[in-house]
Amino acid sequence: MPIIRLPDTVVSQIAAGEVVERPASALKELVENALDAGSTHLEIGLAAGGKELIRVSDNGRGIPLEELPVALERHATSKVRRVEDLHSITTFGFRGEALPSIASVSEFLIESRATGAEVGGRIEVSGGVLSPVRPVSRPPGTVVEVRNLFLPVPARRKFLKSETAELRRCFEVIDAVIFSREDVGLRVSHDGHESYNVPSRAALEDRAEVVWGRKLRGQLHSLDWEGTMQGSVPVRVSGLLSGPRQSSPAARSIFLMVNGRPIRDRALAAAVTQAYREVLVEQRYPFAVIRIELDPERVDVNVHPAKTEVRFQDPGAVFSAVHRAVKHLVESAPWNREREKPLPLSPWKRQAGVQDSGQLQPPSLPQMPLSDGFAAFGYARRGSAAPAVVLDAQAEPAEPRESRGRFGSLDVIGQVRNEFLLCQDGEALIVIDQHAAMERVAFERLRRRFDPDAKPAARQPLLVPETVELSRPELAAVVEGRAVLEKLGFEFEPFGPTTVLLRSVPAIFGRRQPSRLFLEIAGDLADEGVRGADREAIDQLCARMACHAVIRGPRPLSPEERQAFLDEMDEAGFGAHCPHGRPVYFEIPFVEIERRFGKKV
Ligand code: ADP
Ligand code: MG
Repeated sequence: MPIIRLPDTVVSQIAAGEVVERPASALKELVENALDAGSTHLEIGLAAGGKELIRVSDNGRGIPLEELPVALERHATSKVRRVEDLHSITTFGFRGEALPSIASVSEFLIESRATGAEVGGRIEVSGGVLSPVRPVSRPPGTVVEVRNLFLPVPARRKFLKSETAELRRCFEVIDAVIFSREDVGLRVSHDGHESYNVPSRAALEDRAEVVWGRKLRGQLHSLDWEGTMQGSVPVRVSGLLSGPRQSSPAARSIFLMVNGRPIRDRALAAAVTQAYREVLVEQRYPFAVIRIELDPERVDVNVHPAKTEVRFQDPGAVFSAVHRAVKHLVESAPWNREREKPLPLSPWKRQAGVQDSGQLQPPSLPQMPLSDGFAAFGYARRGSAAPAVVLDAQAEPAEPRESRGRFGSLDVIGQVRNEFLLCQDGEALIVIDQHAAMERVAFERLRRRFDPDAKPAARQPLLVPETVELSRPELAAVVEGRAVLEKLGFEFEPFGPTTVLLRSVPAIFGRRQPSRLFLEIAGDLADEGVRGADREAIDQLCARMACHAVIRGPRPLSPEERQAFLDEMDEAGFGAHCPHGRPVYFEIPFVEIERRFGKKV
């Protein structure tokens, strides 16, 4: 064959192979153009999974009549002028390739009226041939219609999947817009039936419900985390996450956005999933919308023609930021807190409130053992040897419970190896590590001392003050941290160059040898240094004290003790991890058990 310059139509058809692969990619280009034009509302019509029709209609700024034919020329764009502009792209488009490419492989129509213009214009493209511009009267904005995509290129049309498969991909494109553009409303129909209707300004929660269905209503938890990468670069990670019970079998349920741009990134999706590892069984994924905001200079968006991938200057740092943010939420386990709403009283309990008069009185519940949970673990007054032990739990007796919390209302199946409690509720099997839970309860209580309106810590005064020998660094550390230590229940005063006089210790230490505990804490403080009274330093100190306070090893629990133990967990209101980050419990949803036995899909 002699060498010839390819006709424009053929060049466009070849280029179309890069930009448009299937209906969903054409849809994506049209939607992005509409968003780039400042639209606040999109109407999308699809037929046969997008194979027969893709129509995107917007209320954006439109295209002036005289520019309409130019919009269909290759490398014609209103978004970039110079190569330098590529470094600061704020639009989705910039290559000026989408419209001519799509038009070259479909029956194409564009109609537009620019803001302020008297009339609009219309161009049709068929077989790669443009019709002349015809004036039309229409509201401001643009509509683009793509019919029979790839009909002129049978080799490509053949590769399209079934209508449902293509439609699913189109919906993925739409979902990404729904999540990433809270200022934009959409109405979507397929084969004449409405599939989505999202008003502009709909909140993210409502958008999630549109995308994932009503099952997630009220089951999503907001994330808003700010931190730094590499020590100094600010990064914000925000969005919505489901609890471990609303999980998905596919990682598609994780939506990622960087600076408002939806992206695909396996590593970042893994960062999210890994943060759930302790609470979610393998091969399940949370529902998540994750927005990452960071200096645009640190992200390159010009990597991929479909613009679904970005390149980070430091991918590891972004991974770790996302992981930390999500982990923070998982550890605080908001799904527990939100399910602590009072449970409806069971009939027999209501019965208890019925008096002779037949009048319904406020139900008087059977007296439950007071939440004396630590007593259940050996902190009780065993014998009556001095020093007198004032239990923390006694110093602050829990209110008799009107209704139980999430853990207290679990049905205990039994104890395993005297170490784990096996429980169930209506939805899942729950395994609790007794030791980790105790440690966490102690931790939460200690930490609560630092709330602004906290009562002073319950102290256990020593009958005879003990002198404790410390090293010089230890003494310096405890003197420096004295205010914090006193808040926790230690009372002491320096007594010579390397000695303190210990007057009382926190009540939760029970009968353990006071001076030894103080020494351990002083040693920790000296090693780590007192880092003032910031939250993290206090948390660390509380974690260490909790660790010293809790007795290790298996422990049989009577039914009453089990109940007291679970109530105690509710009272502490803690997350899914012990202060050292080990999990306190995990759960296996019954649906998961059924799935494993092949009972349900
Ligand atoms: P790009 O988006 O990369 O600039 P396109 O081929 O997708 O290239 O579009 C070419 C030009 O047509 C755009 O730069 C824009 O000026 C105009 N355009 C396309 N779609 C719309 C729309 N929906 N509203 C307003 N202008 C549009
Ligand atoms: Mg474009």
